[in-house]
Amino acid sequence: MDTQQIRSKQEEKPVLETMYFEIESYSHNEQLARVVTAAYMTRLNPTVEETEDVKTAVSEAVTNAIIHGYRESGEKIRIWVSSRGQELTVTVEDQGAGIVDVEQARQPLYTTSREGERSGMGFTFMETFMDSVEVESEPGKGTRVIMKKKIGTEDRVWTKQ
Ligand code: ATP
Ligand code: MG
Repeated sequence: MDTQQIRSKQEEKPVLETMYFEIESYSHNEQLARVVTAAYMTRLNPTVEETEDVKTAVSEAVTNAIIHGYRESGEKIRIWVSSRGQELTVTVEDQGAGIVDVEQARQPLYTTSREGERSGMGFTFMETFMDSVEVESEPGKGTRVIMKKKIGTEDRVWTKQ
């Protein structure tokens, strides 16, 4: 295989590049998760709007892990941010309370918060701002939210090269 063939093979299936980090489940760390994710995204040449969309989705997922998963007890939240070409994937995982009925939890306006300070729109925002959202959860074991979004149009990617 010559260089040209190797290059075109790589272009067929871009390599997966992953960043992994952990935060402790305190409210002030939500901002850190959001900013670190945005920093990773710069390599994908996103629009301001795309960056804001992903930051909002990450913020909702991380806030849920902090508040519902761990009740702000300072435990570990694991976050993977990866990309294959322009396809961005963000995974937020806690080993906290878990969700009994995921389908119900994903409904707009559904919340288990009793103090009335939450609106039950977190999952709806994640779905609105990302292309896909997967939720895996088990009561007593924890929750994993996997969100994907294609960054940039074909045109913009072409211009960049
Ligand atoms: P908002 O996000 O608008 O402040 P909310 O957090 O209650 O309100 P969603 O983010 O849509 O709304 O989540 C819905 C419900 O799903 C939560 O009230 C909670 O019961 C459950 N939930 C979500 N994420 C987790 C998690 N990581 N661990 C345990 N329960 C969760
Ligand atoms: Mg929420």
